[in-house]
Amino acid sequence: MKMGVYDTILVPCPTCGEKEEAQSKSGDCLLRTFELDKCPIDVLPDVNRHAPFTCNKCRTVFEVKLFTSYEVVKIKNAKNKN
Ligand SMILES: [Zn+2]
Repeated sequence: MKMGVYDTILVPCPTCGEKEEAQSKSGDCLLRTFELDKCPIDVLPDVNRHAPFTCNKCRTVFEVKLFTSYEVVKIKNAKNKN
């Protein structure tokens, strides 16, 4: 069992853009740091673990609203079977 290990997600304040550090224990938890928009999908569900966040700069209190979406996209036509 892993203890005290987490990834850090940098969440920008919606008012001033100052980045707050959110700790996530979902995903692989290898002490990595991610920008919110590049955060792996398995790390994201835990982003609000310590929410709401309070911006150190402007005192805005905020959290991350998570959306789940899918899109099925065509890659190519497969070759016909011989
Ligand atoms: Zn702020």
